[in-house]
Amino acid sequence: MREIQHFINGRFVPSANGQSFDKRSPLDNRVIAKVHEGGQAEVDAAVSAARAALHGEWGRMPTEKRLAMLHAVADEITRRFDDFVAAEEADTGQPHHVIAHAFVPRGAANFKVFADVVRNVPTESFQMETPDGRGALNYAVRKPKGVIGVISPWNAPFLLMTWKVGPALACGNTVVVKPSEETPATAALLGEVMNAVGVPPGVYNVVHGFGPEAAGEFLTRHDGVDAITFTGETRTGAAIMKAAADGIRDVSFELGGKNAGIVFADCDFDDAVEGIFRSSFMNTGQVCLGTERVYVERPLFERFVMALQARCEAVRYGRPGDAGANYGPLISHEHQRKVLSYYAKAVSEGATVVTGGGVPDMPGDLAEGAWVQPTIWTGLPETAAVVREEIFGPCCHIRPFDSEEEVLVLANANRYGLSTTIWTRDLARAHRVAAAVEVGIAWVNSWFLRDLRTPFGGSKQSGIGREGGVHSLEFYTELRNVCIKL
Ligand code: NAD
Repeated sequence: MREIQHFINGRFVPSANGQSFDKRSPLDNRVIAKVHEGGQAEVDAAVSAARAALHGEWGRMPTEKRLAMLHAVADEITRRFDDFVAAEEADTGQPHHVIAHAFVPRGAANFKVFADVVRNVPTESFQMETPDGRGALNYAVRKPKGVIGVISPWNAPFLLMTWKVGPALACGNTVVVKPSEETPATAALLGEVMNAVGVPPGVYNVVHGFGPEAAGEFLTRHDGVDAITFTGETRTGAAIMKAAADGIRDVSFELGGKNAGIVFADCDFDDAVEGIFRSSFMNTGQVCLGTERVYVERPLFERFVMALQARCEAVRYGRPGDAGANYGPLISHEHQRKVLSYYAKAVSEGATVVTGGGVPDMPGDLAEGAWVQPTIWTGLPETAAVVREEIFGPCCHIRPFDSEEEVLVLANANRYGLSTTIWTRDLARAHRVAAAVEVGIAWVNSWFLRDLRTPFGGSKQSGIGREGGVHSLEFYTELRNVCIKL
């Protein structure tokens, strides 16, 4: 069985106290890896390696050489593409096409894109007048923030982790990553890549383990960590923010969502059905940007519900490599219990279950996996728990609406504000609605279409700050103003 160790100061190392935990496959609950469980000792070692690297070869490296190294990291990921795909498939159980066409290529791209952003970012400067007439020149230089703590989730583990590691390293920082305990494999593989291309020891470190009172919390509390970037649940974000308050450390948070899909009667019907199907059910609904509340203009309502139902009932469950399989399990039995508890709650709150609502019959070993059916509800009030709370599963509630004003009130009546997907052929309305929804990202006639140069993040309780393109530099660098009297 595979053993996954920490990656500290350029070497794979076991836990000092010998502790480990089992990683189980979401497909059939088999133990697929023994993962070393980090504690305070591993976090201390990783943070001091990261701090030392800031003052070593990495800290002195010319920017061009550093950025070329990150291009080499991306190229090495691409060279070892099959290893990354296999590792991600084993950890998450998601279909091959999603991992091979979206998640792993994006993981590699995250190193190139941010290297290019850093290479091309201009320097801010202001000339000022002074009473003596000689004037002064101001310019701002960007300095790396230092040691960045990266805490990442399990739902698209490689993509989401590199989305932070890429810009952090491009800006000259060093990182200590605590990947989700559910998905340790690709973070470990990336350590091999770093060594293969010559990234100096201590620049990229990984400590495996759990969150509260464990490696995650020890990392966020560590006074050697200068800033923390986190993707995960909103309530975890609140705990991390409290930890970051000691030492007044900066945070960047990408948190939960309860995103609305808004379908107007003048949409392209087939595109809208396909778009909402993807936004609600891709990755078995485990996408922060996913759509768990769908609002459909009344004339289209019944036809839309039927079409989405047909789409859900046509999914083909299976292992990532199985011919024709396009639908995977949830990440774990623990998450399956949570999602099924919401399925039960929907029924007790009076929902009409249009499709799904349970566990599919799976053959052989797969019967032990964390499978659930894609599920659609109608008929619930907006106060119902499944309409208000993030479930993070393959499910949505669909409700009819009668006017643009009404749907905006419905869409905005939620504590989260991550994304919205709007379906209409009326361009003026598209602009109006996109401007009025309280979210960080509004898609029109699309979903999850990502240009990595654009700002990414959430409003309200969906996050703090924006990452992407030059926006990532705001978090990963410190601006120093230099004022020169002429
Ligand atoms: P989670 O908050 O349970 O865990 C995320 C990470 O935080 C894990 O590595 C975990 O070990 C660690 N952690 C947990 N408690 C901690 C603590 N007290 N201190 C330090 N670290 C701690 O989230 P998850 O279940 O892994 O991921 C799903 C959640 O992530 C959903 O809410 C989803 O919406 C959100 N998410 C948001 C985005 C975004 O971009 N906004 C992207 C993906 C996922």
